[in-house]
Amino acid sequence: MKLKRLEMTLQRVAGFSSPRPALEQYQTPAPLAARLLYHALMKGDIEGKVVCDLGSGTGVLAIGAAILGAASVKGVDVDKKAVDIAYANAELLDADVKFIVADVKDQTLPEVLGLCDTVIMNPPFGAQKVHADRPFIDLAISVAPVIYSIFNAGSTQFIKTYTTGRAEIDERVGGVFAMKRTFFFHTQDIQEIGVEILRLKRKK
Ligand code: SAH
Repeated sequence: MKLKRLEMTLQRVAGFSSPRPALEQYQTPAPLAARLLYHALMKGDIEGKVVCDLGSGTGVLAIGAAILGAASVKGVDVDKKAVDIAYANAELLDADVKFIVADVKDQTLPEVLGLCDTVIMNPPFGAQKVHADRPFIDLAISVAPVIYSIFNAGSTQFIKTYTTGRAEIDERVGGVFAMKRTFFFHTQDIQEIGVEILRLKRKK
């Protein structure tokens, strides 16, 4: 599937019906989701692989991975409502994904998820709850040798320091997140936020 086609398909994924600010529920826009997925596909990290999406929300990344030929895909989100929408989206796009309602901080989750080849995620940036991204990074490193994650532009140094000895950043792709007005504290209809997609490789 071509990148443009993937992007158009992912445009059909429905977003959050009533997004919760405390959980930083922002759906990844289709162009950015397609970019992450396509990049991972070209690196050989999607096709035939076991893929896990942490904080899967309404499912755009997980569903995209299934469409691109992952062997199996699991998504995890703490919000049951988001998981319900994700299942409806997967059905709409004929994607085979298992979504689990769980908190990434749940210590039994690595066992529930099992080992994954690749984690893809767009975790909370920690704008509402400081360090909200950390349990996502920790869980990702414990379940997969390769991780693709979207972060605020300028996070590379923090991620590098935070994962020292556990993982290393081996690629960095810049992008923009065109965020629609979602919460009352947003002052513009669309705000473009600089982001970076990092590929992390776990240290053996
Ligand atoms: N991956 C989706 C959603 C990104 S928004 C997408 O790309 O569109 C971040 C998601 O993380 C939200 O769906 C939110 O419910 C979820 N989340 C926030 N804190 C969480 C936690 N502690 N455990 C699991 N999911 C969490």
